[in-house]
Amino acid sequence: MVYFETCSLTVYLYRSKNRGKTWKVFSLTIIIPMRIDIITVLPELLESPFNHSIIKRAKDKKLVDIVFHNLRDYAMDKHKKVDDYAFSGDAGMVMLVEPIYNVITHLKSQRDYDEVIYTSPDGKMLNQPRANYISTLNNIIILCGHYKGVDQRVRDHLITLEISIGDYVLSGGELAAAVITDSVIRLLPGALGDETSALTDSFQDNLLAPPVYTRPAEFNGWKVPDILLSGNDALIEKWKFEQSMERTQRLRPELLEDWGEE
Ligand code: SAH
Repeated sequence: MVYFETCSLTVYLYRSKNRGKTWKVFSLTIIIPMRIDIITVLPELLESPFNHSIIKRAKDKKLVDIVFHNLRDYAMDKHKKVDDYAFSGDAGMVMLVEPIYNVITHLKSQRDYDEVIYTSPDGKMLNQPRANYISTLNNIIILCGHYKGVDQRVRDHLITLEISIGDYVLSGGELAAAVITDSVIRLLPGALGDETSALTDSFQDNLLAPPVYTRPAEFNGWKVPDILLSGNDALIEKWKFEQSMERTQRLRPELLEDWGEE
């Protein structure tokens, strides 16, 4: 049996004329939302980033279902303890294996997950190809670390992908989870108003985006480039490409090393 927890269903019903006869044509679109389960000790920290703008719209359109799980609800003792001292004697607490095992096992009993992600400064760097990859998955778990991080056995036995959002250390994985999720959700078909706009963003095709302008055409003596006002689409496209190339060469030349490759 196939069971959809939530899905968006669109039915198009229209008439078309074929040699005098009228045919009714049906078209059915079922969108099964991507499911993102986030395990955290601070769900409050995640409320705001997920309730505005594109992420909120994607949730409302049932393109994505984001569920927070408070790790303390899976703690083994009455004090809801989720951390303990490091065996190595180092300063700083380490997140316990049992509550994390409990919540991940509970989630896995409900559905299959494509990846169980741990946010970690020593993980693979988040970049556009990785965001593109994650956006193709159906169900993922994101585990947010805290303190000195999680017991290594969690990483060895429960995690399938470790992601860093940059070479610096945050206090917790929540902001990293928000960054990963935002970069992924804007790629889901239907999430952006103009469906093609994600394709023209920086890093798709290994190029930085060209500069953008809007009205007024002149402000304070600062003019919009004439070509953008010319109405000549072919020339504008050529200008945008040249600007992207120039900007990439100047700011991120290493991106061009892979340019044009698959
Ligand atoms: N002791 C660890 C850092 C722990 S920081 C170390 O030196 O590697 C606490 C938590 O914040 C981590 O477990 C991780 O979940 C999150 N975090 C910190 N920096 C991060 C980064 N750059 N990318 C993703 N997550 C990060």
